[in-house]
Amino acid sequence: MELFVATGNAHKLVELGPALPGQLLRTPADAGFPAFDVVEDGSTYLENAVKKAMALHALLGKPSLADDSGLSVRALGGGPGVLSARYGSVDGRRKLEATERNALLLANMGGQADRACAFVCCLVLVLAPDRLFVVQESCPGELLRAPRGAGGFGYDPIVFLPELGKSVAELSIEEKNRLSHRGRACARMSKILADLELRP
Ligand code: IMP
Repeated sequence: MELFVATGNAHKLVELGPALPGQLLRTPADAGFPAFDVVEDGSTYLENAVKKAMALHALLGKPSLADDSGLSVRALGGGPGVLSARYGSVDGRRKLEATERNALLLANMGGQADRACAFVCCLVLVLAPDRLFVVQESCPGELLRAPRGAGGFGYDPIVFLPELGKSVAELSIEEKNRLSHRGRACARMSKILADLELRP
């Protein structure tokens, strides 16, 4: 199915493509809306993902998919959570680079012994204003004390997966898609898509 994805994050598209085999992923730019943007002011991943997918569907009238994701750290009360992309930036100041955000997060954790965290991904598919499908998945890990690995994006270098003995940034795309919050959510969404009866 041709699916328009409500994101400007190229890394997410790189991961969503192989994780949703058989789907033709398009960007708002492909439909002539390169500046498509939605204010992510929800207090949950779900609220933000619904808002983005509904906004894109309202604009295009075509099947629209949105991903809202982030890193929730137990010792920080679930933060940065929905603020993951903007962690450390103050109104009017530039958004930090991923390496700066990672350094800030590790500094804010200090010597905290509880390093439990989880990547979370909420995926919302809107087929019509009254027809939508939601999945949310997570990938638990532990915050490292220093970054490791060069792959992936965002917080990947500082999240360790004990069962693999690697940071997320040390995984291949295939490994990451098998285990990650986004990979798991996509696997569930793929089943929904395969089972879907399409209406005119
Ligand atoms: P949003 O979903 O566009 O609001 O952004 C989510 C933010 O969470 C990203 O900018 C990253 O900082 C972080 N994030 C989401 N998924 C991942 C991932 O797979 N690896 C590393 N960081 C992620």
